Amino acid sequence: MLYDCAIIGGGPAGLNAALVLGRARRNVIVYDSNKPRNAVTHESHGFLTRDGVKPAEFRRIAQSEIVRYPSVHMQQAEVNVINRTYTGFEVITAQGERVEARKIILATGLKEVFPEIRGLSHFYGKSLFNCPYCDGWELRDKPLIIVAEGPHLFHGSKLISNWSRDLIICTNGHRSLTPEQIGLLEHKGMRVMQQPITSFEGKDGQLEHVVFADGTRVRREGGFVTPKWVHAAPFGERLGCFTNDMGGIVTDGFGRTNVKDVYAAGDASVVAPSQLIIAAAEGSRAAIGLNGDLTEEMFMQW
Ligand SMILES: Cc1cc2nc3c(=O)[nH]c(=O)nc-3n(C[C@H](O)[C@H](O)[C@H](O)COP(=O)(O)OP(=O)(O)OC[C@H]3O[C@@H](n4cnc5c(N)ncnc54)[C@H](O)[C@@H]3O)c2cc1C
Repeated sequence: MLYDCAIIGGGPAGLNAALVLGRARRNVIVYDSNKPRNAVTHESHGFLTRDGVKPAEFRRIAQSEIVRYPSVHMQQAEVNVINRTYTGFEVITAQGERVEARKIILATGLKEVFPEIRGLSHFYGKSLFNCPYCDGWELRDKPLIIVAEGPHLFHGSKLISNWSRDLIICTNGHRSLTPEQIGLLEHKGMRVMQQPITSFEGKDGQLEHVVFADGTRVRREGGFVTPKWVHAAPFGERLGCFTNDMGGIVTDGFGRTNVKDVYAAGDASVVAPSQLIIAAAEGSRAAIGLNGDLTEEMFMQW
């Protein structure tokens, strides 16, 4: 069977694209390897009508809405290969299943690469986060640590001071701040630590202490750590899609990439700000763009 579209990635971007295409009566297959970026967190915030929803519950609701549309097929599988064919693309999963589709939506999201600090993974998503818009409210007025190894640290520190004034700013041994920036942050009452962090300590995901290379141990109840973000799947690059300065796949207002018949949506394309509601909206835009393009291509073949 030749699908109208294969959507790679079943997060909010891919699922919203599937919903819109299903309602447009397109034959769609959605592949998802079930490794959502936000799986570590207990609750997601900032999505109107779903503020505080558990990530798994969000997907369950989304999938229950999509199954109402019989032309959408959901497959839990990892896609390994996408090749161009005469009619569009062949998509091959890790299990060797192969389908063909006229068009592709890349909605594979990002994955985080963290600095190597002992204990970080125990607290990430529970009391250490990466985005104040997602989790700043829950950490308001608490003693926090902000860790970033790049130039974003100065802006991030100013931003997070809206949620708490009890801040330790940490470069983790990198030169992320200029002397002027350090002076300004200290003038505002923030403590700047430039040594590497050795470990995060606490219990049941609740951060209690941060230990530095020189043995300094400070009490903290939470914080924000900026990771590096990389694409969760390599297809954008392999298919020749252009990327922007942040590494996001460049799209027009309707999800089209520079590669014909390849669309992108969600974190894979936006990178920042990375939010569920933005990813879902991106999925909708890509689906509407793709459906419009298919209509133009197929109308005369009736
Ligand atoms: C700790 C944390 C907390 C967050 N909290 C919030 C919050 O409170 N509010 C908010 O708005 N945002 C939050 N976010 C951001 C939000 O999770 C993302 O912006 C959103 O999930 C992006 O949606 P997406 O569909 O683009 O990607 P994802 O949700 O990451 O989905 C991509 C999907 O593609 C699949 N995939 C990848 N490669 C393949 C492949 N080769 N084959 C098949 N499937 C594949 C993955 O398994 C995954 O299911 C948080 C992120 C993190 C890390």
